[in-house]
Amino acid sequence: MRWLLCVVVVLFSVSAYSAWHGDTQDIMGTRVSATVWLEDDQKAEAAIAAAMAEMRRIDAEFSPYIETSQLYRANQLAPKATASDPLAITPELASIIDKSLYYSRVSDGAFDITFASLGRYYDYRAKLKPSEQQREELLPLINYQFIHLDTKNSTLWFEHPRVYIDLGGIAKGYAVDRAISVLQGFGVQHATVSAGGDSRVLGDKLGRPWMVGIKNPRAEDGVAITLPLENCAISTSGDYERYFIDGDGERVHHIINPRTGKSTKGVISATIIGPVGFDTDPLSTTVFVLGVEKGLALINSLPGFDAVIIRSDGKVYYSKGLTPP
Ligand code: ADP
Ligand code: MG
Repeated sequence: MRWLLCVVVVLFSVSAYSAWHGDTQDIMGTRVSATVWLEDDQKAEAAIAAAMAEMRRIDAEFSPYIETSQLYRANQLAPKATASDPLAITPELASIIDKSLYYSRVSDGAFDITFASLGRYYDYRAKLKPSEQQREELLPLINYQFIHLDTKNSTLWFEHPRVYIDLGGIAKGYAVDRAISVLQGFGVQHATVSAGGDSRVLGDKLGRPWMVGIKNPRAEDGVAITLPLENCAISTSGDYERYFIDGDGERVHHIINPRTGKSTKGVISATIIGPVGFDTDPLSTTVFVLGVEKGLALINSLPGFDAVIIRSDGKVYYSKGLTPP
C-alpha cells in the first residue's frame, strides 16, 4: 500500500511538473532565478536564457561599479554638466531616475538615490563605514533636489560636483519586470522571477496561487508569513542582507537614512506587494526608512499596494488590505 502511494505521487509529480523549467544565476550581486511553465521545452529554455540576458544587460547599464555602464558615466559627467549644457542620457536611465525622484517626493526624502554621495563610502564586506568627518561633509549632499532631470529630452545634471547616485534600491525590481516582459514575449503565461528580495509572479501556479514566504530574519524557523499571490510583485528590504556589526556592537547595514547618513533603525524587514517591481522595490526601501507608522500611512494611501512590516522588537504590522475586517 505504501509502495503504491509512492508510485502515485511520483507519477503525479512527473506529469504535472514536466513543463516547468528553471534557472538560477548570480547577477546584479545577487541570486537571480526564473521558473517558467511552457510545454515546448526548447522555447522554455530560450525564454529563460533571454530573460537572464536582459537582467545581465540591466546590470551592465545601471551598475555604479562597471566603468562602461550608463550609471558610471552619469556619475562622472552629470556633476560637471550644467543647466545650459546638460548630459544626454538614455530614455531608460531617465525613466529610472524619474521614478526614483517620484518616490523621493512622496516619501519626503526617505527614498533618495543621492544617499550614495555618502553611502558609497560604506563597504559592508570590508566592514568599513565613513568617518565622522566624511559624514559631516557629505551628509548635505544627500539631497535629491540636486538632481535635475529632463524626461522629455533625456538629459541630466547635478547641482553639486560631489553628488553621486546609486540605483540599488530600484534596479532589481525594474530588472524583474523586464525579465517578465521578455518571458511574455515567448508566450509564457505562468512564471516567477526573483532577484534577491524582489520577485514577480506571472499568472498562477497552474490553478493555484504562488505561495511566497516572507522571512522573519530573527525568528528560529525563519518564516513570518506566507502569502498566496497571482500576477503581482513582492519586494522585501531587510537589514540582514548586507551588514556588519561594528566596534560598538551596532548593526551597520545597507539601507541608509538620508537624514542621518547612518543605517536606518526601527524596522528589520519591510515587504511591499503591488502590481510591478518598479514600484514595490523602491517602496520597500522607502517604508524601511520611514518606519512602521509613516510607512503604513504611505502604503494605505496608495491604491493597489500592501505591506508587511516587522519592527525591531519582532512585532509584525500589516497594511489595511491585509488586515481582516
Ligand atoms: P535589496 O538590495 O536587498 O533588495 P533594497 O531594495 O532595500 O534591498 O535596496 C537596498 C539598496 O538600496 C542599498 O543596497 C542601496 O543601494 C540602496 N539604498 C540604501 N538606502 C537608500 C535610500 N535611503 N534611498 C534609496 N536607495 C537606498
Ligand atoms: Mg527596494
